[in-house]
Amino acid sequence: MRLAIGRRLPLATVTSSQTGTEDTVNAVVRDGISLAACTTLRLGGPAARFVQGERPRDIVDVVRAADAAGEPLLVLGAGSNLVIGDDGFDGTVLRVANSGRGCDRLGDGLVQLTVEAGENWDQTVAWTVAEGLGGLECLSGIPGLVGATPVQNVGAYGVEIADLLVSVDLLDRSSGQVRTVQADALGLEYRNSVLKGTDSAVVLRARFELRDGGASAPIRYAELARLLGVGVGDRVPAAEARQAVLDLRTAKGMVLDAADHDTWSAGSFFTNPVIEDTELPAVLLRAQSVLRPEETMPSWPGGIDRTKLSAGWLIERAGFPRGYAGPGGKVGLSSRHTLALTNQGGASTADLLELAREVCAGVRAVFGVELHPEPVFVNCVL
Ligand SMILES: Cc1cc2nc3c(=O)[nH]c(=O)nc-3n(C[C@H](O)[C@H](O)[C@H](O)COP(=O)(O)OP(=O)(O)OC[C@H]3O[C@@H](n4cnc5c(N)ncnc54)[C@H](O)[C@@H]3O)c2cc1C
Repeated sequence: MRLAIGRRLPLATVTSSQTGTEDTVNAVVRDGISLAACTTLRLGGPAARFVQGERPRDIVDVVRAADAAGEPLLVLGAGSNLVIGDDGFDGTVLRVANSGRGCDRLGDGLVQLTVEAGENWDQTVAWTVAEGLGGLECLSGIPGLVGATPVQNVGAYGVEIADLLVSVDLLDRSSGQVRTVQADALGLEYRNSVLKGTDSAVVLRARFELRDGGASAPIRYAELARLLGVGVGDRVPAAEARQAVLDLRTAKGMVLDAADHDTWSAGSFFTNPVIEDTELPAVLLRAQSVLRPEETMPSWPGGIDRTKLSAGWLIERAGFPRGYAGPGGKVGLSSRHTLALTNQGGASTADLLELAREVCAGVRAVFGVELHPEPVFVNCVL
């Protein structure tokens, strides 16, 4: 196999899946690259082999070849939801880098947006807002690439990908075939899908249904509605909603800024725990000891006979305030958001995991509630 661009190293086991013969693949291949440079936590050891796939057919060929050879493969977007062990990854890391987007007008004000998986998510949202398309604006400022958004059903400020996703084209790794899968077959639920942590498929592109006319989707999140000066359920110009979301996220350290260690994170490190309603009285009883006067423990309906709790509140009341420093002071909770575990510079993944274990144990001891991590762990465990 010959490779077309970049500093190229032979990918000896790969032959074209389409022709079965040697072929030219438009992929950049490097050995020994540090994965810390590829994650927003700036953590993770080296990759044995790093391949960047800039065309769908290259992505498909690299994945099929790795799978046929039984070689470990890590599909990488922008590394904003990944915790990678200090030993790195002893296999091929495939950075998804295909690009392009387009719109089809469906009539009745509906527009179908099709975006390649390697496109930057926030730039895509900004583009839709500039084009007068409403729907994605509340998902502004979320790091990462488009292909990863269905993986954990990305969500924020009352909107999630499941609300807008129509379908994805993906490479099904069990069959080796590319197929279109409708959104309702992806098992999209709170920060989860059939794709998350399963290595079952690689998303190549995604389609979303948006509205033209420049208005946002109805604002569902009370804090956002307050900032915009509207009622919950109202619409505003999508550009205003985007700016308000970016302001809220920036105040919480949830917009990437290389100079700001509070954003050297994987976003929320834990999901909001969902417990059975039968467990709630015991948790409320334990919470009595940490409640402030006039305060009630935050909770929301979490599905049939279930209640969702606030992981951030539980962490703080278990004795971990904003800015809490972890072992050696190189990791800590964000000074603006207790849910974000951050690399304050020079940390290792082992440091981060030690802090995460301490937080989990503290919440368990005070409330009897288990926290579950939101990011995907690679070659490390909590
Ligand atoms: C500061 C900050 C704020 C954040 N805020 C939010 C938020 O508000 N809401 C939210 O939901 N998330 C949030 N996140 C988490 C993260 O940004 C999202 O989960 C994002 O979609 C991850 O995209 P990525 O390209 O970085 O994926 P990566 O971290 O590279 O990968 C994540 C997982 O998806 C898999 N994957 C990546 N691309 C593909 C593909 N094309 N096909 C199949 N699998 C793939 C990977 O193998 C891995 O398992 C935040 C993160 C940070 C750092």
